[in-house]
Amino acid sequence: MKPYSVCYEADLHTHTIASDGELTPAELVRCAAGRGVRLLAVTDHDTLSGLPEAQEAAAAAGIEFLPGLEINTSWRGREIHVLGYLPSVFSPLLAERLADVRVKRFERMQRIVDKLNSLGIALRPEDVLRETAGAAPGRPHIAKALCRGGYGASVADAFRHWLGQGAPAFVPRYPLTPEDAVAWIREAGGIPVIAHPGDADLTAAEIAAWAPGGLRGLETRHPHHDEAQTAKYTRWADELGLIRTGGSDFHGPGVRPGTEPGCRGLSLAEAEILRRGFAGGA
Ligand code: AMP
Ligand code: FE
Ligand code: FE
Ligand code: ZN
Repeated sequence: MKPYSVCYEADLHTHTIASDGELTPAELVRCAAGRGVRLLAVTDHDTLSGLPEAQEAAAAAGIEFLPGLEINTSWRGREIHVLGYLPSVFSPLLAERLADVRVKRFERMQRIVDKLNSLGIALRPEDVLRETAGAAPGRPHIAKALCRGGYGASVADAFRHWLGQGAPAFVPRYPLTPEDAVAWIREAGGIPVIAHPGDADLTAAEIAAWAPGGLRGLETRHPHHDEAQTAKYTRWADELGLIRTGGSDFHGPGVRPGTEPGCRGLSLAEAEILRRGFAGGA
């Protein structure tokens, strides 16, 4: 297939319709297995709701499954995503904390819609919810609803004109820090990992400062990282004693074409270090 022909055996970063992906958990698993992925982590934003279906589908497809999630946080005006790998799909306390985050997402969506309405845009909350397939609403869903209503040529365009930082209908997210996310994942017995550090242009010192709070890993291989960044983050992970992870951040066949499951990831041998983290009592 297009830019990435390689398929890693372990893809530790993927999304489904449980958050902002296009495929159901079962469809994602079949797609990944069909491409040659042998170990798949499903890491939806701020929810565990897709995990049971994915786990079942992985068993049926004969591939290994690692339950996960990706928690969106804010820090010093930047957006930081924290991946978590969990010992079980069933993490009641974490699920409860995430449910609270989702309630806050609905409240924020209403505030964004109010702002858009005051700007003369006839968008209703139900128009946004039509885009979510039951997931908690995020700005990408609002952007899609805006496009469908003729208020944007593309999701990127909708962010530029209405939803992005500095745009007229921007509403900041609930205050959740990377430290909170790391603590929640640790509390669930999981392994917290900083996702795509290149997106927020994090420094080694900034990443190191989260280690005492329980950070265990750094996502070194990600489609947003070029070769130099991958090499840099690999070096930092080794220097800081963090587990290296990687994944495609696949959101569906129509999203960021070319970033198919397995286009970024780890070999099974590399992933063994991560899986052993559970045995070691994370
Ligand atoms: P939210 O969590 O609701 O604030 O939405 C954040 C998500 O919106 C990110 O994870 C990105 O997937 C997406 N996003 C953020 N900025 C942009 C942008 N400028 N263009 C397109 N998508 C964006
Ligand atoms: Fe996403
Ligand atoms: Fe992310
Ligand atoms: Zn992601």
